[in-house]
Amino acid sequence: MPIHAFAALAQGAALTPHRYEPPALGPFDVELAISHCGICHSDIHLIDNDWATSQYPLVPGHEIVGMVRRAGPDVTGVSIGDRVGVGWQAGSCLACEWCERGEEHCCPKQVATCVGRPGGFAEAIRLDSRFVYPVPASLASENAAPLLCGGVTVYSPLARMTRPASRAGVIGIGGLGHLAVQFARAFGCEVTAFTTSPDKEAEARRLGARHFVVASDAGAMDRAAHSLDLLLSTVTVALDWPAWMKVLRPRGTLCFVGASPGTLGVATAALMIGEHTLAGSVIGSRAVTREMLEFAARHGIAARTEVVPMAQVNAAIERVRQNRARYRMVLTNG
Ligand code: NAP
Ligand code: ZN
Repeated sequence: MPIHAFAALAQGAALTPHRYEPPALGPFDVELAISHCGICHSDIHLIDNDWATSQYPLVPGHEIVGMVRRAGPDVTGVSIGDRVGVGWQAGSCLACEWCERGEEHCCPKQVATCVGRPGGFAEAIRLDSRFVYPVPASLASENAAPLLCGGVTVYSPLARMTRPASRAGVIGIGGLGHLAVQFARAFGCEVTAFTTSPDKEAEARRLGARHFVVASDAGAMDRAAHSLDLLLSTVTVALDWPAWMKVLRPRGTLCFVGASPGTLGVATAALMIGEHTLAGSVIGSRAVTREMLEFAARHGIAARTEVVPMAQVNAAIERVRQNRARYRMVLTNG
């Protein structure tokens, strides 16, 4: 039976209905009936071939919640009828040093859910059950789907790089950023939101930001100088990174999760004198993903979403491109 999906047929193209024959169900595979799929900005990078890896037809989508409707004979851990989620990663070798350490997101043979294989802008998907996560009952599917990529991507570095007394800043209050504010607040941090969108202030404060700084306000940026232990960038663009380093306290870290193009241009002496750290972080391991879901359920952390039918995928993508999503567009087959 073919799977109905939406695909870009060329770089930057609008998505069109697309049908494909799924591979045979492997022993560890499940087939999910997709109910919801978030639109992460990485889907847009893929459509636009920003990373020069895209192959077309390209079915984006890697913030998936759905119900298990078929399962191979060796599947354990999830059963037919379970509500589960899938994020950016759909496989790894499960044998190398990194996989054995439980850091399979660092595996050189990692497989991405919608790179070189069809993703979640579809009615269904087949993939390895070992990269599928039960969704806690208290999380609604539309609010949980964005946790599977956006959520774990910010949870992982915040969990590693903050302490309860930390002062943490988030640049970009979009899909990832609005989740980062919530997690950092729940960890006990004093949170500063940095934005280009003044209209996000009330929601950012509701989500847990103590300070709200519009980055174009030079006075506010000056007042924020030397205030943060961790600054997490979630933006999609290149910024003046040496200028942003000035908001760090001594020993502070600037960590990139947003896929900004270009290089950093940070002076060695500035790093040395502040004992600063530059860091990057990518999604999270399977264990951290499970932990993040449990933590989110316990603390009532959920994506703020705009839910639209899958058939309106192009309009939804356009809202993300225009930075008008509040705060994650989620497609539904419901
Ligand atoms: P998003 O929802 O579009 O949010 C990005 C935010 O960046 C916007 O809401 C905006 O926030 C800010 N921004 C946009 N244009 C800007 C500009 N010209 N100057 C300054 N700020 C600007 O995107 P997302 O889904 O959160 O993804 C963000 C990035 O993370 C993407 O590059 C994505 O590929 C990457 N990502 C990385 C990982 C990983 O594992 N490291 C995982 C998922 C996604 P304000 O309106 O508040 O300014
Ligand atoms: Zn993503």
